Amino acid sequence: MLAKLSGSLMKRLAVLSLSLLLLAACSRPPKKKEVSPEIPPPINRLLFGGDVMLTRHVGVVAAQQKDPAWPFRQIAADFAKADIAFVNLESPFTDQGSPTRTGMVFRADPANIAGLLLAGIDVVSFANNHTRDSYEYGLLYTLDLLERSKIAVVGVGRDEATARAGVVLERQGVKFGFVAYTYDQRNGNHKTDDARINGLDLVRLREDISNIRGRSNVTIVSIHAGTEYAKQPNAQQRLMAQAAIEAGAALVIGHHPHVTQPCEDYRTGVICYSLGNLVFDQTIAGTNDGIVAEAEFKGPSLRNVRLRKIKILNTQPVFVTPR
Ligand SMILES: [Zn+2]
Repeated sequence: MLAKLSGSLMKRLAVLSLSLLLLAACSRPPKKKEVSPEIPPPINRLLFGGDVMLTRHVGVVAAQQKDPAWPFRQIAADFAKADIAFVNLESPFTDQGSPTRTGMVFRADPANIAGLLLAGIDVVSFANNHTRDSYEYGLLYTLDLLERSKIAVVGVGRDEATARAGVVLERQGVKFGFVAYTYDQRNGNHKTDDARINGLDLVRLREDISNIRGRSNVTIVSIHAGTEYAKQPNAQQRLMAQAAIEAGAALVIGHHPHVTQPCEDYRTGVICYSLGNLVFDQTIAGTNDGIVAEAEFKGPSLRNVRLRKIKILNTQPVFVTPR
Protein backbone atom coordinates (compact mmCIF):
# COMPACT_ATOMS: atom_id res chain seq x y z
CA MET A 1 0.00 0.00 0.00
CA LEU A 2 1.32 3.42 -0.94
CA ALA A 3 0.78 6.50 1.22
CA LYS A 4 0.77 10.10 -0.08
CA LEU A 5 4.17 11.70 0.45
CA SER A 6 4.15 14.96 2.39
CA GLY A 7 5.89 18.05 1.03
CA SER A 8 8.75 17.99 3.53
CA LEU A 9 9.38 14.31 2.98
CA MET A 10 9.53 14.96 -0.80
CA LYS A 11 12.17 17.63 -0.17
CA ARG A 12 14.23 15.35 2.04
CA LEU A 13 14.07 12.63 -0.61
CA ALA A 14 15.24 15.07 -3.27
CA VAL A 15 18.27 16.07 -1.15
CA LEU A 16 19.03 12.45 -0.46
CA SER A 17 18.87 11.55 -4.18
CA LEU A 18 21.21 14.42 -5.02
CA SER A 19 23.76 13.44 -2.41
CA LEU A 20 23.60 9.86 -3.62
CA LEU A 21 24.25 11.02 -7.19
CA LEU A 22 27.24 13.09 -6.07
CA LEU A 23 28.57 10.24 -4.05
CA ALA A 24 28.27 7.95 -7.05
CA ALA A 25 30.05 10.46 -9.27
CA CYS A 26 32.98 10.94 -6.87
CA SER A 27 33.60 7.34 -5.98
CA ARG A 28 34.52 4.23 -7.84
CA PRO A 29 31.63 2.23 -9.19
CA PRO A 30 30.01 0.63 -6.19
CA LYS A 31 30.74 -2.99 -5.66
CA LYS A 32 27.81 -5.29 -6.04
CA LYS A 33 26.31 -5.57 -2.62
CA GLU A 34 27.19 -8.96 -1.17
CA VAL A 35 23.98 -10.76 -0.53
CA SER A 36 24.10 -13.39 2.15
CA PRO A 37 21.08 -15.52 1.47
CA GLU A 38 19.42 -17.27 4.37
CA ILE A 39 20.69 -20.83 4.17
CA PRO A 40 17.96 -23.20 5.30
CA PRO A 41 19.10 -25.88 7.77
CA PRO A 42 20.03 -29.10 5.96
CA ILE A 43 17.67 -32.06 5.92
CA ASN A 44 19.23 -35.42 6.82
CA ARG A 45 17.39 -38.72 6.64
CA LEU A 46 18.64 -41.51 8.87
CA LEU A 47 17.50 -45.10 8.43
CA PHE A 48 17.49 -47.60 11.30
CA GLY A 49 17.09 -51.35 10.95
CA GLY A 50 16.87 -53.94 13.74
CA ASP A 51 18.69 -57.22 14.30
CA VAL A 52 20.95 -58.49 11.53
CA MET A 53 22.17 -62.09 11.84
CA LEU A 54 24.29 -63.20 8.90
CA THR A 55 24.87 -66.88 9.53
CA ARG A 56 22.86 -70.06 10.16
CA HIS A 57 20.10 -70.40 7.51
CA VAL A 58 20.80 -66.82 6.30
CA GLY A 59 24.36 -67.86 5.44
CA VAL A 60 23.19 -71.12 3.85
CA VAL A 61 20.74 -69.35 1.53
CA ALA A 62 23.34 -66.70 0.57
CA ALA A 63 25.79 -69.50 -0.29
CA GLN A 64 23.13 -71.36 -2.31
CA GLN A 65 22.38 -68.16 -4.20
CA LYS A 66 26.15 -67.64 -4.72
CA ASP A 67 25.52 -64.10 -3.48
CA PRO A 68 27.09 -63.10 -0.15
CA ALA A 69 25.06 -59.85 -0.24
CA TRP A 70 21.81 -61.78 -0.82
CA PRO A 71 20.03 -60.78 2.44
CA PHE A 72 20.21 -57.08 1.54
CA ARG A 73 19.39 -57.24 -2.19
CA GLN A 74 15.80 -55.97 -1.89
CA ILE A 75 16.39 -53.16 0.60
CA ALA A 76 19.91 -52.05 -0.29
CA ALA A 77 18.89 -49.15 -2.53
CA ASP A 78 16.75 -47.53 0.18
CA PHE A 79 19.43 -47.90 2.83
CA ALA A 80 22.19 -46.69 0.54
CA LYS A 81 20.21 -43.50 -0.18
CA ALA A 82 19.97 -42.55 3.51
CA ASP A 83 22.35 -39.95 4.87
CA ILE A 84 23.18 -42.42 7.64
CA ALA A 85 22.14 -46.08 7.74
CA PHE A 86 22.27 -48.05 11.00
CA VAL A 87 21.64 -51.69 12.00
CA ASN A 88 22.37 -53.91 14.98
CA LEU A 89 24.97 -56.53 14.04
CA GLU A 90 23.91 -59.60 15.97
CA SER A 91 26.48 -62.07 14.58
CA PRO A 92 30.25 -61.68 14.89
CA PHE A 93 32.42 -62.45 11.85
CA THR A 94 35.31 -64.89 12.06
CA ASP A 95 37.58 -66.76 9.67
CA GLN A 96 38.17 -69.54 12.21
CA GLY A 97 35.92 -72.58 12.23
CA SER A 98 32.97 -73.04 9.93
CA PRO A 99 29.97 -70.71 10.01
CA THR A 100 27.11 -71.60 12.34
CA ARG A 101 24.49 -73.88 10.85
CA THR A 102 22.32 -74.46 13.91
CA GLY A 103 22.05 -73.25 17.48
CA MET A 104 22.33 -69.93 19.27
CA VAL A 105 26.09 -69.29 19.18
CA PHE A 106 26.92 -67.33 16.03
CA ARG A 107 29.91 -67.37 13.71
CA ALA A 108 29.38 -65.52 10.43
CA ASP A 109 31.40 -65.93 7.25
CA PRO A 110 33.36 -62.67 6.68
CA ALA A 111 32.21 -62.78 3.03
CA ASN A 112 28.71 -61.91 4.22
CA ILE A 113 29.79 -58.39 5.14
CA ALA A 114 29.07 -57.80 1.44
CA GLY A 115 25.41 -57.18 2.34
CA LEU A 116 26.25 -54.37 4.76
CA LEU A 117 28.47 -52.82 2.10
CA LEU A 118 25.85 -53.16 -0.63
CA ALA A 119 23.33 -51.39 1.62
CA GLY A 120 25.79 -48.63 2.47
CA ILE A 121 25.51 -49.27 6.19
CA ASP A 122 27.43 -46.46 7.89
CA VAL A 123 27.30 -47.56 11.51
CA VAL A 124 26.46 -50.75 13.38
CA SER A 125 25.82 -51.42 17.02
CA PHE A 126 27.82 -54.49 17.96
CA ALA A 127 26.88 -54.39 21.66
CA ASN A 128 24.55 -57.34 22.13
CA ASN A 129 24.25 -60.74 23.74
CA HIS A 130 26.10 -62.37 20.79
CA THR A 131 29.16 -60.08 20.66
CA ARG A 132 31.38 -62.78 22.20
CA ASP A 133 29.83 -65.79 20.47
CA SER A 134 33.10 -66.25 18.54
CA TYR A 135 35.08 -65.35 21.65
CA GLU A 136 37.97 -62.88 21.89
CA TYR A 137 39.16 -63.74 18.39
CA GLY A 138 35.76 -63.10 16.79
CA LEU A 139 35.28 -59.84 18.65
CA LEU A 140 38.61 -58.44 17.46
CA TYR A 141 38.23 -59.94 13.98
CA THR A 142 34.84 -58.24 13.61
CA LEU A 143 36.20 -54.87 14.76
CA ASP A 144 39.07 -55.18 12.24
CA LEU A 145 36.76 -56.22 9.40
CA LEU A 146 34.34 -53.36 10.09
CA GLU A 147 37.20 -50.89 10.26
CA ARG A 148 38.67 -52.12 6.96
CA SER A 149 35.18 -51.89 5.46
CA LYS A 150 34.81 -48.31 6.73
CA ILE A 151 31.74 -49.18 8.79
CA ALA A 152 31.70 -47.40 12.14
CA VAL A 153 30.95 -49.48 15.21
CA VAL A 154 29.32 -48.40 18.47
CA GLY A 155 29.02 -50.08 21.84
CA VAL A 156 32.16 -52.20 21.40
CA GLY A 157 35.78 -51.10 21.18
CA ARG A 158 39.35 -52.24 21.66
CA ASP A 159 39.14 -50.77 25.15
CA GLU A 160 36.41 -49.66 27.53
CA ALA A 161 36.87 -45.96 26.78
CA THR A 162 36.32 -46.52 23.05
CA ALA A 163 33.28 -48.69 23.69
CA ARG A 164 31.73 -45.93 25.78
CA ALA A 165 32.81 -42.98 23.65
CA GLY A 166 30.52 -43.85 20.73
CA VAL A 167 31.00 -42.32 17.29
CA VAL A 168 30.16 -39.00 15.70
CA LEU A 169 29.19 -38.93 12.02
CA GLU A 170 28.91 -35.52 10.37
CA ARG A 171 26.43 -34.95 7.58
CA GLN A 172 25.97 -31.52 5.94
CA GLY A 173 27.54 -29.84 8.95
CA VAL A 174 25.37 -31.63 11.52
CA LYS A 175 27.16 -33.95 13.92
CA PHE A 176 25.21 -37.09 14.79
CA GLY A 177 26.53 -38.82 17.92
CA PHE A 178 25.81 -42.52 18.51
CA VAL A 179 26.25 -44.57 21.68
CA ALA A 180 25.14 -48.18 22.22
CA TYR A 181 24.40 -50.58 25.09
CA THR A 182 23.47 -54.17 25.70
CA TYR A 183 21.55 -55.64 28.64
CA ASP A 184 23.58 -58.88 28.39
CA GLN A 185 26.87 -59.90 26.80
CA ARG A 186 27.26 -63.47 28.05
CA ASN A 187 24.62 -65.40 26.09
CA GLY A 188 25.07 -68.18 28.62
CA ASN A 189 28.66 -68.85 27.43
CA HIS A 190 30.70 -66.52 29.64
CA LYS A 191 31.00 -66.13 33.39
CA THR A 192 32.20 -62.53 33.49
CA ASP A 193 31.61 -59.34 31.55
CA ASP A 194 34.09 -57.81 29.13
CA ALA A 195 34.56 -54.05 29.63
CA ARG A 196 35.04 -53.61 25.87
CA ILE A 197 31.31 -54.25 25.45
CA ASN A 198 29.16 -51.41 26.77
CA GLY A 199 26.78 -52.78 29.40
CA LEU A 200 23.40 -51.19 30.03
CA ASP A 201 23.70 -49.17 33.21
CA LEU A 202 22.03 -45.93 34.24
CA VAL A 203 25.20 -44.20 35.47
CA ARG A 204 27.21 -45.12 32.37
CA LEU A 205 24.34 -44.12 30.09
CA ARG A 206 24.07 -40.66 31.63
CA GLU A 207 27.84 -40.10 31.63
CA ASP A 208 28.28 -41.27 28.03
CA ILE A 209 25.40 -39.14 26.77
CA SER A 210 26.77 -36.10 28.58
CA ASN A 211 30.14 -36.77 26.92
CA ILE A 212 28.90 -37.26 23.40
CA ARG A 213 26.62 -34.23 23.65
CA GLY A 214 29.79 -32.19 24.03
CA ARG A 215 31.03 -33.49 20.68
CA SER A 216 27.86 -33.60 18.61
CA ASN A 217 24.62 -31.79 17.77
CA VAL A 218 22.31 -34.80 17.93
CA THR A 219 22.49 -37.82 20.25
CA ILE A 220 21.16 -41.21 19.20
CA VAL A 221 21.14 -44.09 21.68
CA SER A 222 21.01 -47.75 20.65
CA ILE A 223 19.75 -50.16 23.31
CA HIS A 224 19.85 -53.94 22.93
CA ALA A 225 17.38 -55.08 25.57
CA GLY A 226 13.93 -56.43 26.27
CA THR A 227 12.16 -59.74 26.55
CA GLU A 228 12.36 -61.96 23.50
CA TYR A 229 9.06 -62.19 21.57
CA ALA A 230 7.28 -59.78 23.96
CA LYS A 231 5.10 -57.20 22.22
CA GLN A 232 5.62 -54.55 24.91
CA PRO A 233 8.81 -53.14 26.48
CA ASN A 234 9.79 -54.34 29.93
CA ALA A 235 10.60 -52.12 32.92
CA GLN A 236 14.33 -51.99 32.17
CA GLN A 237 13.77 -50.90 28.56
CA ARG A 238 11.41 -48.12 29.68
CA LEU A 239 13.71 -46.91 32.45
CA MET A 240 16.80 -46.76 30.25
CA ALA A 241 15.17 -45.31 27.16
CA GLN A 242 13.38 -42.59 29.13
CA ALA A 243 16.59 -41.77 31.03
CA ALA A 244 18.41 -41.44 27.69
CA ILE A 245 15.88 -38.88 26.43
CA GLU A 246 15.95 -37.05 29.77
CA ALA A 247 19.76 -36.89 29.46
CA GLY A 248 19.41 -35.19 26.08
CA ALA A 249 19.09 -37.93 23.43
CA ALA A 250 16.81 -37.17 20.50
CA LEU A 251 16.17 -40.76 19.54
CA VAL A 252 16.40 -44.17 21.19
CA ILE A 253 16.58 -47.19 18.90
CA GLY A 254 15.87 -50.55 20.53
CA HIS A 255 16.35 -54.12 19.34
CA HIS A 256 16.64 -57.69 20.67
CA PRO A 257 13.03 -58.87 21.26
CA HIS A 258 12.96 -60.15 17.58
CA VAL A 259 9.43 -58.79 17.25
CA THR A 260 8.40 -55.17 16.98
CA GLN A 261 7.44 -53.06 19.96
CA PRO A 262 5.92 -49.55 20.01
CA CYS A 263 7.60 -46.35 18.91
CA GLU A 264 6.41 -43.37 20.91
CA ASP A 265 7.08 -39.73 21.65
CA TYR A 266 8.62 -39.16 25.03
CA ARG A 267 9.20 -35.58 26.19
CA THR A 268 11.50 -34.03 23.58
CA GLY A 269 12.46 -37.28 21.88
CA VAL A 270 11.24 -40.47 20.27
CA ILE A 271 11.72 -44.00 21.56
CA CYS A 272 11.47 -47.10 19.37
CA TYR A 273 11.55 -49.95 21.86
CA SER A 274 12.15 -52.69 19.30
CA LEU A 275 12.48 -52.59 15.53
CA GLY A 276 12.28 -56.39 15.42
CA ASN A 277 14.39 -58.36 12.97
CA LEU A 278 15.83 -56.97 9.78
CA VAL A 279 17.80 -60.04 8.64
CA PHE A 280 17.14 -63.29 10.55
CA ASP A 281 15.93 -66.84 10.00
CA GLN A 282 13.43 -67.37 12.81
CA THR A 283 10.05 -69.04 12.45
CA ILE A 284 8.25 -67.86 15.62
CA ALA A 285 5.22 -65.63 14.95
CA GLY A 286 6.15 -62.01 14.30
CA THR A 287 9.87 -62.60 13.80
CA ASN A 288 9.66 -62.04 10.05
CA ASP A 289 7.88 -58.68 10.41
CA GLY A 290 10.17 -55.80 11.30
CA ILE A 291 10.24 -52.05 11.18
CA VAL A 292 12.68 -49.68 9.55
CA ALA A 293 12.58 -46.28 11.21
CA GLU A 294 13.26 -43.32 8.97
CA ALA A 295 14.17 -40.25 11.03
CA GLU A 296 14.20 -36.85 9.38
CA PHE A 297 16.31 -34.12 10.92
CA LYS A 298 16.21 -30.46 9.98
CA GLY A 299 19.57 -29.19 11.16
CA PRO A 300 19.87 -30.73 14.62
CA SER A 301 16.10 -31.00 15.16
CA LEU A 302 14.27 -34.29 14.86
CA ARG A 303 11.30 -33.45 12.64
CA ASN A 304 9.64 -36.76 12.03
CA VAL A 305 10.04 -40.51 12.46
CA ARG A 306 8.36 -42.59 9.81
CA LEU A 307 7.94 -46.30 10.36
CA ARG A 308 8.19 -48.57 7.36
CA LYS A 309 7.24 -52.21 7.70
CA ILE A 310 9.42 -54.93 6.26
CA LYS A 311 8.73 -58.61 5.74
CA ILE A 312 11.46 -61.24 5.64
CA LEU A 313 10.96 -63.70 2.79
CA ASN A 314 13.51 -66.49 2.41
CA THR A 315 15.99 -64.51 4.59
CA GLN A 316 15.53 -61.35 2.46
CA PRO A 317 13.68 -58.37 3.95
CA VAL A 318 11.44 -56.48 1.53
CA PHE A 319 9.62 -53.23 2.21
CA VAL A 320 5.89 -53.65 2.75
CA THR A 321 5.35 -49.89 3.27
CA PRO A 322 6.17 -48.10 0.04
CA ARG A 323 8.87 -45.44 -0.15
ZN1 LIG B 1 19.84 -60.11 20.99
